[in-house]
Amino acid sequence: MKKIAICLIVFVIYSVPLTVSATTDYEGRQHLYSKMETITQIPWYYFAAVDQYERNIRNARKDLPDTETLIGIYFSPQQWVGPLNPDIIDNDPLSIEIFNGIGLDGNGDGKADRTNDEDVIYTMAMYLSSYGTDKENLKIALWDYYKRDKTVNFIMNYARIYEKYGVNLDKHAFPLPLHANYSYRSTWGDRRGWGGLRIHEGTDLFAGYGVPVKATGYGFVEMKGWNEYGGWRIGIRDINNVYHYLAHLRGFEKGIDVGSIVEPGTIIGYVGSSGYGPPGTQGKFPPHLHYGMYKDNGITEWSFDPYPYLRAWERKERIERKKK
Ligand SMILES: [Zn+2]
Repeated sequence: MKKIAICLIVFVIYSVPLTVSATTDYEGRQHLYSKMETITQIPWYYFAAVDQYERNIRNARKDLPDTETLIGIYFSPQQWVGPLNPDIIDNDPLSIEIFNGIGLDGNGDGKADRTNDEDVIYTMAMYLSSYGTDKENLKIALWDYYKRDKTVNFIMNYARIYEKYGVNLDKHAFPLPLHANYSYRSTWGDRRGWGGLRIHEGTDLFAGYGVPVKATGYGFVEMKGWNEYGGWRIGIRDINNVYHYLAHLRGFEKGIDVGSIVEPGTIIGYVGSSGYGPPGTQGKFPPHLHYGMYKDNGITEWSFDPYPYLRAWERKERIERKKK
């Protein structure tokens, strides 16, 4: 009887982690990143950053399979086994090496398995560390790998965010204080007349002058300044590769500059009515926050409707506030 009880307890303990989905198993991910830090002396948050970038790309692209395991880094079959390797599912580390494939055996089972998290992260770790362990060398390694400045910039900034906040960055916030007077509805795709015929790429949140505007997720400031359409506007790249474009501000919060790291709720500026003319133009329309969202798939970027996200963040923040 006692044995059965013990078995049941063991079963319960071991069955719990299996129900955690791979994308939210932050402990499991942290464990693998830290292991790579031990092996390579490269800080864990660089592995977290590359992994997250690639997970985002796979989510945004239809030609790549979605991540089903802990690690999001994707190697194509040919990249893994080597360009001239006739055996596309080769997992023998020796023949992969002969054919100049990138795949390595990270867990010591004698196989270089493209579907094994430890083999995959180890392979990326060895690639990066072959350039050295300091920041400048990592940047060169990333550039040689992705051949895209934007991607290198994303990853280097994601590393700073992970370093500061840790591995779990799921939290979000609504861009305006919930107690403020504001209103918004779905207007994505509506026509806009000023400056030629344009389609409205965002949601307008109407609020009074000077109402604080907040970051909705973890990210970094990618762009800040004046534009004749958007007035004083700011662009934030979040940890999911999504670009958040906030426009028509009256002004920016002090200390918020290109490169600043933000978290959900960080005040970045204030509601205004700037735009539709040369720098300083304001009052051509009622004060509001224009909120746009753009997805990046590693090649191009496109606008999508922020309205459902705004509603979800608002609802969640309201529920959390009630709990307190
Ligand atoms: Zn707008």
